[in-house]
Amino acid sequence: PLVLGIETSCDETGIGIVRGTTLLSNTIASSMDEHARYGGVVPEIAARAHLDELVPAINAAVAEAGIRLADLDAIAVTCGPGLSGALMVGVGAAKALAVALDKPIYAVNHLVGHVGADLLRSDIDASDTEPLEYPTIALLVSGGHTSLLLVRDLVSDVELLGETIDDAAGEAFDKVARLLSLPYPGGPQIDRVAADGNPKAIRFPRGLSQPKDMAAHRYDFSFSGLKTSVARFVEQRQDAGEPVPTADVAASFREAVVDILLTKALAACADYGVPRLLLGGGVIANHRLRHVATERTDAAGIALRIPPLSLCTDNGAMIAALGAQLIMAGHEPSTLEFGADSTLPVDQIQV
Ligand code: ATP
Ligand code: MG
Ligand code: FE
Repeated sequence: PLVLGIETSCDETGIGIVRGTTLLSNTIASSMDEHARYGGVVPEIAARAHLDELVPAINAAVAEAGIRLADLDAIAVTCGPGLSGALMVGVGAAKALAVALDKPIYAVNHLVGHVGADLLRSDIDASDTEPLEYPTIALLVSGGHTSLLLVRDLVSDVELLGETIDDAAGEAFDKVARLLSLPYPGGPQIDRVAADGNPKAIRFPRGLSQPKDMAAHRYDFSFSGLKTSVARFVEQRQDAGEPVPTADVAASFREAVVDILLTKALAACADYGVPRLLLGGGVIANHRLRHVATERTDAAGIALRIPPLSLCTDNGAMIAALGAQLIMAGHEPSTLEFGADSTLPVDQIQV
C-alpha cells in the first residue's frame, strides 16, 4: 500500500511516503534551532513551527516521491506519545487530508513507529538486508524517551519492559552540555568533545545499574543522579579556581550513559532469550554508543540492527511504514474520533 505518514510529536515536522516497505520520500523540517536559546524544546514554539512547516513538507514529500495525493491508499499519523500541542497539529492535518481525499486514516504510536523504521529499505539496498525478525528487543533513546521494548510483533504485540524514571538520555546529554558551556543540542557537542577525553578519568555513577538496583529496576533507567554528579564535579573545580577538564568530563559522562543503556538492553536480551537488539532515536547518532553496542552484542552473539540515522531521528517515513504494516496485516482504519494523547502507552500500537 502507498501510505503518507505525518509525524509532529516533538520538534521535527516529518512527512514520509512509503510503498509497503519501500521508502519513497522522507521530508524533515526541524525547529531545533529555535529552541537553542532555551536549552531544550519549547512546546509552544514546536507547535507553531509545525503549523508553518506542514503544508510545504507535504508538498515536498509528494513531489519527491513522484506521486499524486489521489494515489494514496491511506494516511498514517502519530497521535502520541509526545507534546500535546505539537501532536494536535499533525493529527488535525491528517484528519483534514483524510477527509478531503476520502482516504482511510491510521492513528499510530510514535514509539512503535521508531521500531517500524527498521523495516524501510530504499530500492538500492533492498537485496542485501534481512527483514526484521521477531521477537526483538528495542532500545529507543532520544531527547524525550529512553525506553526498552520487547517486540513480539510490530502490529500486535509490543511490551514496555522499562523506561527512564527521570530524564531521557538525550535530555541528559543536553543538560550536561549546558554545564560544560557547550551549545544546544548537546549530544553531538559532547560526542565531539569526548573524542579527545579519557572515558576512565572520572568514575560517574551508573544509575539503577548496580546489582542491588537491578533487582527492583532491571529495565528502568535513571540519569538525573549522573547529571547531578557531573554538576558537582564541575562546581568543585570552579570553586577551587581550577580549570574544568571538559574533554575528560564529556568522555566519562558519555561512557556512563552508554554503559547504563547497554547493560539494561543486554540484560533484557539475555532474560528473554532474544538474540536481536534494535536501536532507535536521535541518541543513536552517538559514536561511542554505536561502537560499544557493536562490541557487546558481538561478544554476546546478539544481532545488532541500527537503521540509518535519517530514520532513527523523528520522521514521517517510520509512521507511514507502521501504517503500511497495519494495512497489510488487515487492521481496520482508525475512526475520526481519536485525538492527540501525550501519554499514549506503547502497547497501544494503533488508536
Ligand atoms: P522524541 O523524544 O520525541 O523522539 P527528540 O526530538 O527529543 O524527540 P531526536 O530528535 O530523535 O529526539 O533526538 C534528539 C536528541 O538526540 C537530543 O537530545 C540530542 O542531544 C541527542 N543527540 C543527537 N546526536 C547525539 C550524539 N551524537 N550523542 C548523543 N546524543 C545525541
Ligand atoms: Mg528532535
Ligand atoms: Fe522520537
